[in-house]
Amino acid sequence: METGVPICRCGLKAKIATSWTDDNPGRRFFGYKYYGREGHCRFFAWYDATLTPRARVVIVGLLRKVKKMERARRIERICWLCLLIFSITMVLVMK
Ligand SMILES: [Zn+2]
Repeated sequence: METGVPICRCGLKAKIATSWTDDNPGRRFFGYKYYGREGHCRFFAWYDATLTPRARVVIVGLLRKVKKMERARRIERICWLCLLIFSITMVLVMK
């Protein structure tokens, strides 16, 4: 049997989720099991302790770097795909 999982106002076990806001990056919390569905009860309770200001700055900085690298990677993939399509087209046209 699970212990320490709070029960929301509907009588359901809360679901653990992770916040990705700039104020609470990576901080876990309990929320309504069916959050997002109509009529949800808005139950909310933090699971993890508050982040230190330094931890928050470091995590937010790392998340921004990851997002920037993912964006660059997507652009790189599109460039390679365009080059591939161009190359195939040229080979077919030159035949
Ligand atoms: Zn509820």
